[in-house]
Amino acid sequence: MADVLLKKTVLKDVKIFKDLEEEIIKTNKCCACGACVAYCSSQMFDVIKMEGYTPQFISNANVDNCKECGLCYYICPQTDPLMNHLNEKYQIKDEMGFVQDIIAAKTTDEKIKEMGQDGGLVTTLLTYLFDINKIDAAIVSEYDEKLNPIPKIIYSKEELLKSSGTRYSISSNILTLRDLYSIAEKIVEKNHQIYDINQIRMAFVGTPCQCRAIRKMQLLNISPAHVIKYVFGLFCMENYDYEKLFQLVKKVINEDPTNIAKMNIKKNFFITNKEGKVYEVELKKFDDAVRNHCHDCDEFTSRFADISFGGSGAVQKNSMVIIRTKLGEELIRDVTIAGYIDKFTPTKSTISDWKASKIDLLRRMTNNKINKS
Ligand SMILES: Cc1cc2nc3c(=O)[nH]c(=O)nc-3n(C[C@H](O)[C@H](O)[C@H](O)COP(=O)(O)OP(=O)(O)OC[C@H]3O[C@@H](n4cnc5c(N)ncnc54)[C@H](O)[C@@H]3O)c2cc1C
Repeated sequence: MADVLLKKTVLKDVKIFKDLEEEIIKTNKCCACGACVAYCSSQMFDVIKMEGYTPQFISNANVDNCKECGLCYYICPQTDPLMNHLNEKYQIKDEMGFVQDIIAAKTTDEKIKEMGQDGGLVTTLLTYLFDINKIDAAIVSEYDEKLNPIPKIIYSKEELLKSSGTRYSISSNILTLRDLYSIAEKIVEKNHQIYDINQIRMAFVGTPCQCRAIRKMQLLNISPAHVIKYVFGLFCMENYDYEKLFQLVKKVINEDPTNIAKMNIKKNFFITNKEGKVYEVELKKFDDAVRNHCHDCDEFTSRFADISFGGSGAVQKNSMVIIRTKLGEELIRDVTIAGYIDKFTPTKSTISDWKASKIDLLRRMTNNKINKS
């Protein structure tokens, strides 16, 4: 399938990892999603690795191992060739992408309420999927004591809480898919019945660029993204280099970065310290810490997800939820019926144009992002 699509439609001269290096990595357009390394490693080609946030040849000796298949180039979320196919498949005609429905909602679980970034919807939906045995594992992002994101695969709902909340820096979530065999081993350890590695069922949580990479792999029907059954996309205005951001935090609000309890981006940047004091800072004050790849990005609401989640537009402690696929629609229906989430009901006077006004707001925010680029 991958071969047919590539040969038939897009590839005249196959581009390979060396082209990715020249066009995307060396020009600072790489979003460090880890898709290229995950694909290559899952094939056991032994060619590239992730060094920090940079995909690169394992060593000079490994350059010759490159099969020149070109797939790393074509699945990269920052390259163009597959985008027309992807847009067609996901019915994307404008900056908002396909919107099946839009709601605001919050979790009914007290612990998730406390830990979740907005309405705790992502963690709640993952909990539900574990509860009804629709997934064996989920790809999320945890964090260390300095709030640095750590990509992680989790195998049970009990491990989920630690991943709640947002880290506004890169978490190379796709990289976790490097080795499906060890993932399968862990799933078997947890007493799930896996007879074939291709039976693994995972949910993926990520930023718009990461969801785009997963969908490109799925378009080509290649490993390891074939095990992803649910794609949960996060709204994302921009992603920060935490080292630079924390220097600016110190300068702008004179707060010690180690005393930050939570950060949240809405219209402005909100920083809560460990004593509960909340600082509101204009986003542009932290512009110098924004990662370069975000400047070219035209996605805010994760157009390629089954369901997209953000805080913008929702009332306090709710998540804004864009349902994009039938799978997403069924999941939101079922999780609501099961009582895991409470949908927000607009007041009588706003109910008639509530959805249109939210879509309008998110469209404007998307265009702000595009125009800022
Ligand atoms: C870099 C970034 C920028 C964002 N910018 C905006 C914005 O401008 N406006 C807006 O409305 N929303 C933004 N969001 C989304 C928002 O912060 C929440 O993630 C979203 O509202 C879901 O909240 P929740 O309470 O439903 O999720 P929760 O239940 O709290 O779960 C959050 C999920 O996000 C995952 N996660 C956390 N950090 C990362 C990361 N760095 N990379 C990948 N996955 C991660 C966690 O593993 C967890 O599964 C951004 C998110 C990120 C990661």
